[in-house]
Amino acid sequence: MATFYQPDIADGANFLGEEESRHCAKVLRLRPNDTITVVDGKGTYYQSVIQETSPKRCTFSIVRQQHQAAFPYSIHLLIAPTKNLDRTEWMVEKLTEIGVDSIQFVECDYSERRVLKLERLQRKAVSAMKQSGRALLPALVEIHPLTSGQLQLPADSSKFIAHIDENHHQPLSKLATTHTSYVLLVGPEGGFSPREITWATEQNFQMVSLGQYRLRTETAGLVGCQTLHTVNQLYSLGNSS
Ligand code: SAH
Repeated sequence: MATFYQPDIADGANFLGEEESRHCAKVLRLRPNDTITVVDGKGTYYQSVIQETSPKRCTFSIVRQQHQAAFPYSIHLLIAPTKNLDRTEWMVEKLTEIGVDSIQFVECDYSERRVLKLERLQRKAVSAMKQSGRALLPALVEIHPLTSGQLQLPADSSKFIAHIDENHHQPLSKLATTHTSYVLLVGPEGGFSPREITWATEQNFQMVSLGQYRLRTETAGLVGCQTLHTVNQLYSLGNSS
């Protein structure tokens, strides 16, 4: 069934925005009485019936609503955007598919990209959410300097910094406990500066490895988040058997 995005549906917006309306009326050529799913990006699916179609504004009535099951943990990725924007877009798409709560961009001492517009990334996330049958969008947070104190970190979280150096850090899969809120920090192509490592240690980030080989920033973000999902999945499997 065709899925559309309307973030303000809970506030009574029973219509699709311009882009979604054009897709509904012009591309898919849906008609009044056709059934559609509308997701709000906040975790709710609304099974709906189209009332009126027009390329600018399609209206619908809600038949039933259903909530996406929430994970008993949350994942917040702090990551330096890559020099090549396509790589970050790819990562946002993949992370939306596997599910993360937030992606907060950070500017690091060795960053090659210091400015980032969220609009394109947001569009990638919306289409990945619809395509993967999810109703939740990761919150994308504007870029801030890493050590500036402007980051929004959830209280009482387990904080990890993925880092490569001559000390062989313990794998994330080994250090992560289950059912908690995680913050995972991944650096830019040039890695972290010594000053940033000191800052992270003072902020109680634990240094972790994502394996013995050097991953690209966007791969490290994806692997790190999936590792946290896997740690929790293995735990629930262990509990039920
Ligand atoms: N030249 C850099 C490599 C950076 S890779 C350096 O030597 O540090 C980009 C980022 O991905 C790193 O800052 C780190 O956060 C993460 N990363 C990549 N591979 C990793 C691994 N095997 N273990 C831990 N973190 C890794």
